[in-house]
Amino acid sequence: MNGIVVVGTGQAGFQLGASLRENGYAGPVTLVGDEAGLPYGRPPLSKAYMLGKTDASGLSLRPDAFFAEHRLTLRAGERAIAIDRAERRLRLASGEAVPYDHLVLATGSRNRPLPVPGADLPGVHQLRTLADADALKAALAGARSVAVVGAGFIGLEFAAVCAQTGVPVTVIEGLDRPLARSVSAGMAASIEASHVAAGVRFLFGSAVAGIVGPDRARAVALADGSEIEADLVLVGIGVVPNAELAAAAGLRVENGIAVDAMLATEDPAVSAIGDGASFPSPHAEGARVRIESVQNAVDGARCVATRLTGRPAAFTAVPWFWSDQGPLKLQIAGLCQPHDLAVRRGDPERGGVSMFCYRGGRLAGVESLNRPADHMIARRLLQAGRSPTPDQAADPGFDLKALALG
Ligand code: FAD
Repeated sequence: MNGIVVVGTGQAGFQLGASLRENGYAGPVTLVGDEAGLPYGRPPLSKAYMLGKTDASGLSLRPDAFFAEHRLTLRAGERAIAIDRAERRLRLASGEAVPYDHLVLATGSRNRPLPVPGADLPGVHQLRTLADADALKAALAGARSVAVVGAGFIGLEFAAVCAQTGVPVTVIEGLDRPLARSVSAGMAASIEASHVAAGVRFLFGSAVAGIVGPDRARAVALADGSEIEADLVLVGIGVVPNAELAAAAGLRVENGIAVDAMLATEDPAVSAIGDGASFPSPHAEGARVRIESVQNAVDGARCVATRLTGRPAAFTAVPWFWSDQGPLKLQIAGLCQPHDLAVRRGDPERGGVSMFCYRGGRLAGVESLNRPADHMIARRLLQAGRSPTPDQAADPGFDLKALALG
């Protein structure tokens, strides 16, 4: 028996191994990952770790002993370079071929590079790995002014850290609001207002033309000819799925490694999970989605582990996500994008706000800012397939919890 081999020791790969054992799988499990050390969680990298509130040991998903206790063979620092599907072997960069009965691709995603002159200068950073975080944290300690390219989650979380540590920060965004692809216009406005109050400066509708050197980053040059002074630049313009290994093995790639509703590829011996996989979601009316979140990685891994231990089921877990940005806790339940109606519950000036997003007359998702109770209720509503009317959602007197509990 060759057992189950997992490529990627991030959130999804780790969870797959842990869930296989929880489900009673007794065969060999090998986790192959190209990052050194124990599997760790990325969310604190742009929050608690960046603020010095936790150290590297606090990021580990489990201590060393867990892997031995659960007979999970961790091959950290090893890169998989090819899949021989006919022979069911995974080839590593070392030349070794690891045989498998089932292969799970949990290869995640990597940062999209900024395609402008000067993007490789010292002082220009990205944030994905612990090594990236260490370099960024060291640079922040000596920075006089920071520019963040991209008003996405990572960019806003880092901007909040800059504001909290008193370093002037400018966020440069090509679109007309923060998180334009991720949240409703109403939620974006609340988030922007809070960051501005904390001292973050935003430049919207601004294209970056280059990073001004010559020896290290000194400013960000914009397409309109102006320059934003910065000795530290964080580029946060999204990710691309790590799907090349799958593509080279002849597996279908469609905005990520394409899998079916059970997260299986067209090869019955290969599954894919996490940031790198795209799957048809019942929460998007069956459309193919690729979701970058801890919940998606963890629940996808559980779904595959359950199938591999004899109880096949479709991946139907309600997607949810969080982002901590200084005093803001944003939580999203469901898939809000696209939506054709968004109604407000609560008041951003008084304790928080939620946006209930509707698609085709049904609740598609809920964005909550500092309203964690709404978030929990939203997850229940979506799991149960119950949709309050927009009037009910907006009415503070309407008991959403009672509706959720049925
Ligand atoms: P990853 O965690 O990226 O793991 C994939 C692993 O596979 C990587 O180690 C990669 O190096 C390795 N790999 C790839 N190819 C190969 C190969 N050929 N051979 C060997 N190894 C390979 N999500 C939230 O829900 N909330 C948050 O607040 C949040 N904050 C975040 C903050 C930061 C700074 C970052 C970077 C992400 C954050 N996320 C957050 C997203 C979340 O961390 C990801 O969605 C999650 O890590 C995805 O897990 P994964 O296992 O699919 O991918």
